[in-house]
Amino acid sequence: MQRREIFAGNWKMFTTRAEALALARGLLEGLGELKGREVAVFPPSVHARELADICRGKIDVGVQNMYFEKEGAFTGEVSPVMVKDLGARYILIGHSERRHVFGETDEMVNRKVKAACEYGIEPMVCVGELLAEREAGDSEKVVGGQLRKAFDGITADQMKKAVVAYEPVWAIGTGKVATPEIADAMHRYIRKELAGLYGAGIAAMVPVLYGGSVKADNIAGLFASPDIDGALVGGASLKANSFLDIIHV
Ligand code: PEP
Repeated sequence: MQRREIFAGNWKMFTTRAEALALARGLLEGLGELKGREVAVFPPSVHARELADICRGKIDVGVQNMYFEKEGAFTGEVSPVMVKDLGARYILIGHSERRHVFGETDEMVNRKVKAACEYGIEPMVCVGELLAEREAGDSEKVVGGQLRKAFDGITADQMKKAVVAYEPVWAIGTGKVATPEIADAMHRYIRKELAGLYGAGIAAMVPVLYGGSVKADNIAGLFASPDIDGALVGGASLKANSFLDIIHV
């Protein structure tokens, strides 16, 4: 079975409304032949509804963060009901900036994954080690722990809709991309862990994306690995041409 290949752009806290619309239009114009690949964008949530409308059927739209409760007195948060209602396909969960800037814990990540599954939003779950953890030889321990905690209580059926993104924290926004060897080894480890949790059949279905300073000039080496099913791209997804060059690797 051919695994889905996904190229996703995380726009972080960038783009005014006009810039977001122009970027989406630039992508739509340049998509061309996708060879079965899927493209997704995660704009700031205030633009997501409008982008979902203009991108429908061509580019999937996701939201960068949500709370896990359905509704309530949680000022500043958006709920899974709202994310679903605006037409988003994906929710990004556990991005390193959420974990390390906003103090999101593995428990919160797990509650968000459960909420996504409950409301029919596909979770794209980020895992990745800090530089100190890699240097201490703990990368697999850290990533394995994040995976097990994120998907605790998630059924095999729910797992079929999940996407994992391996994003070593030391490579995000730093220009220091993981070598294809490092990324390939971790992706194989992630697949092995998923097989341990859900069996080889489900593990073979779940797309595992690489993220961390992906650019047009390094994507080919990474994407050559059979266990790297696409990319989650930050900085280089903010210009239509550079993201298109990555998508068309
Ligand atoms: C990201 O935001 O998920 C990311 C990988 O950023 P960058 O590509 O800029 O490193």
